[in-house]
Amino acid sequence: MSTLTTALVTAFGAERVKIDAPLAPLTTFKVGGPADVLFEPVNADEILRALAIARAAGQPVTMLGGGSNVLVSDRGLRGLVIRPREGTVNAVGVRLVRADAAITINGLVRWTINRGFAGLEAWAGTPGTVGGAIFGNAHWKRSNIGDLVESVRLVKPNGTLLQAPADRMEFAYDYSRLKRTGEIALWVAFRVTPGGDPAALRLVARESLSFRKQTQPLESPSAGCIFMNPDPSRDRIPDGMPPSAGALVDRAGLKGAVVAGARVSPAHANFVINDGTATAADIKRLIEQCRSAVKDRFGVTLRDEIISLGEF
Ligand SMILES: Cc1cc2nc3c(=O)[nH]c(=O)nc-3n(C[C@H](O)[C@H](O)[C@H](O)COP(=O)(O)OP(=O)(O)OC[C@H]3O[C@@H](n4cnc5c(N)ncnc54)[C@H](O)[C@@H]3O)c2cc1C
Repeated sequence: MSTLTTALVTAFGAERVKIDAPLAPLTTFKVGGPADVLFEPVNADEILRALAIARAAGQPVTMLGGGSNVLVSDRGLRGLVIRPREGTVNAVGVRLVRADAAITINGLVRWTINRGFAGLEAWAGTPGTVGGAIFGNAHWKRSNIGDLVESVRLVKPNGTLLQAPADRMEFAYDYSRLKRTGEIALWVAFRVTPGGDPAALRLVARESLSFRKQTQPLESPSAGCIFMNPDPSRDRIPDGMPPSAGALVDRAGLKGAVVAGARVSPAHANFVINDGTATAADIKRLIEQCRSAVKDRFGVTLRDEIISLGEF
């Protein structure tokens, strides 16, 4: 057993430390190889202890939330994968709701709706967890989840804890400072408005869900949008083209394109779907084909929205 595994087993027990653990089932793409070691902490204290153990063993750590925005390499991930589970949601006074990183966005939406807290209801149907949503500042229509954040409890790579107010999180389109710093989110305080009517909030949630059903290929494994939309202030978008990655892929003729078991969704050209037989390498090849077709045809270099983990 490696030093990392031995120390984790001593701290948490052998049954909770998984060696060579398949990651594909833990992602929405359903591809990718195993984690050297996987640990699923159930509270912030366990996350901190696991991080300290990995640091002492000199091993890299990868956080995994709902696995809904990642492409894990077929070779898997070295070191420790931490996948927080469980967690709690609590009201703090009447205008803040605190949710642990492991809470799913759907779970948080349900919790707030049932208590008449307005603000998060339109996020119904967003796959993944609070931690993953904060990392990439999840977006829906014209809103970013960061717009609702009051503060985030973070741990730095060296183990230091801090509380970052939203204006220090560097929230931007598909971006938070976590992408730069390697900090880990432990919990998040969201601003909410009390006194909402749960039935009315539920209606908004249902509208979001049905809009998703109409516009996204939810019946096949995917990881949501592959590319960020181009930024008109940075990217020169040809006249008459909307600043939309999906439209660019579509007009470059790649909608429906296939590499082995991976296909550009015929319903939404910024989604790649897995027919159940794709590998991560197939998906990566298809993504690169889309990127180069759009570059050749329109001169726009699309940037990844999905996070590639491991070696490709
Ligand atoms: C069908 C479908 C529809 C989607 N629709 C949308 C949409 O409308 N809007 C949108 O923005 N996204 C969408 N996505 C993408 C995805 O749901 C979001 O990006 C989501 O917020 C990712 O959360 P997650 O917990 O699954 O993160 P993961 O995919 O597990 O991880 C994403 C990144 O976050 C990091 N991370 C996870 N937890 C933590 C933590 N606690 N601290 C620090 N880093 C952490 C991971 O290391 C990784 O780099 C969609 C995906 C699918 C499959």
